[in-house]
Amino acid sequence: MDRQAKAVVCREWGQPVQVETITVEGPKRDEITIKIAACGVCHSDLSATTGKIPYPPPLVLGHEAAGVVVEVGEGVTAFKEGDHVVSTFISMCGKCSQCVRGRPVLCENARKAMFNLPDGTVRTKGADGEPLNVFGACGVMAEFATMHVDNCVKVDETVPMQNAALVSCAVMTGVGAVFNTAKLEPGSRAAVFGIGGVGLNAIQGCVTAGAEMIVAVDSNPTKLAMAKEFGATHTVNINEVEDAAKAIKKMTGGVDYAFECVGAGPVVEQAYKSLGRGGTAVVVGVADPKDKTSLTTLTLPADERTLKGSWLGSARPQHDFPRILGLYKAGKLKLDELVTRTYPIEEAAQAFEDMVAGKNARGVIVFD
Ligand SMILES: [Zn+2]
Ligand SMILES: [Zn+2]
Repeated sequence: MDRQAKAVVCREWGQPVQVETITVEGPKRDEITIKIAACGVCHSDLSATTGKIPYPPPLVLGHEAAGVVVEVGEGVTAFKEGDHVVSTFISMCGKCSQCVRGRPVLCENARKAMFNLPDGTVRTKGADGEPLNVFGACGVMAEFATMHVDNCVKVDETVPMQNAALVSCAVMTGVGAVFNTAKLEPGSRAAVFGIGGVGLNAIQGCVTAGAEMIVAVDSNPTKLAMAKEFGATHTVNINEVEDAAKAIKKMTGGVDYAFECVGAGPVVEQAYKSLGRGGTAVVVGVADPKDKTSLTTLTLPADERTLKGSWLGSARPQHDFPRILGLYKAGKLKLDELVTRTYPIEEAAQAFEDMVAGKNARGVIVFD
């Protein structure tokens, strides 16, 4: 059935987001409709409103949400009404060589579902009946969303929705970079560059994986204080040192793992330079396509260093989301503390402003 839903929509690049009443159609084959309970506000949503992520408007924002299944389409067996689910913007076909080898974030068919559902169409319409694109096959910054089952992961019903929502982007990206991409060994020394929602999660991923030293690097003292709350053992304020990499090397002798959570060539260089022999630098931040980085080539073989990238924490959503929520339930990951502030959907524009101002670890839009 069709449902009316308030939704956060980007109508034009460079303009503030708008809250509109849209129509969300019911599910077709292999799709489900979710009543959204909470949706995190992510920098990627912002990037879609500026055109840095060039999804064509009109676009329903949101990819980091949790909610309850209210309708299932034909052929759906894995979900039923009342199930709690988290969205995932990773579209995976399950059949290509990347999916088959357990790397769904690299699915060869994922690009077919960047701003529409995997079949190339959408279930969302504006007031004039015009189709509305959906961010990352999700479009979950709305009271309802109809998604393909592959973009949904069933989760534990005892986890508060606003916490569960964050797993699908910020938490997975940061924690997954440590667990899945770096496979950090206990007793290691690590540095995390850039303390936003992702950086904080990289820090707590390092804690959970058993890192011995964790150096947080940022220019904002408030964020460095947050980093300590999430388990950083040391901090470096880049405004107070001449060279962050040198400062880290002095503290640690060179780290085993460096996580770059900014997405900027010069920061990647710093992360790489802070490594000790045999160290691995993981680039998590999403840089501008024209951005470049440079490093001393000889150090790759002579120090056996590694430079690698991590996309959504090398996630296997169906496996990793429940695993991460299990760690939260066991008291080994902080999720409550990540939600700095919640907003009703009417205050979506404010939530975006506060994110730009760096006020929140995470701001979350909550629905009635
Ligand atoms: Zn995100
Ligand atoms: Zn695939």
